Amino acid sequence: MHFVQKGDCSDITDDLENILKGNGKVFRLLEDPNICFVIAYLYDAEICDNYNQASLGRRCKDTSCWKFHICSLYVKGMCKEPHCKLSHAYGDEHNKTVKDRLRLSSYSDIDINKIILNCYPKICSTAGCDTEANCPFLHICSKFCVGICQYGSTCRLKHTFRTEHNVWILNAYNISENDISTGSPLARKLTIAKNT
Ligand SMILES: [Zn+2]
Ligand SMILES: [Zn+2]
Ligand SMILES: [Zn+2]
Ligand SMILES: [Zn+2]
Repeated sequence: MHFVQKGDCSDITDDLENILKGNGKVFRLLEDPNICFVIAYLYDAEICDNYNQASLGRRCKDTSCWKFHICSLYVKGMCKEPHCKLSHAYGDEHNKTVKDRLRLSSYSDIDINKIILNCYPKICSTAGCDTEANCPFLHICSKFCVGICQYGSTCRLKHTFRTEHNVWILNAYNISENDISTGSPLARKLTIAKNT
């Protein structure tokens, strides 16, 4: 299943446009001014930050937590820890309940990862991508996002969320450019888009 597909949006009918615009909890739209990208996601599908935070002992004490207790690096496909203490399975007790609530029980773990990752903007993997209007991804340095780029002002990638293109993408995800900055929790959730 593909959740972000580059395709031709020029033949979107008025009916389809109304459906897409009326379902903001499952579709994000990039408009310019017509719809040029449709991103499928799920508003409530979230990773529990408390569960992932080392300073909290990687625990969540909220017994009514609705968020997935899953390793955030696993979701990103980046967990290299062979004996990771955090869950890598949506089938365990807590996550199964969350999955049932979100009606995601019939989806594979890989698809749930994609749905969760689509809640946040992605970073463009093409350095020097200049097809601004035709790219649904942020043009920004991924290391700057997590606060570890050592190149500073000499980095060949952008070190700001405040370009016209990036603000356009952020706003489509209901994120203000004022709410995201280098190393912030939100910036740390961004992943690099895979060219599929
Ligand atoms: Zn939790
Ligand atoms: Zn892990
Ligand atoms: Zn791009
Ligand atoms: Zn950089």
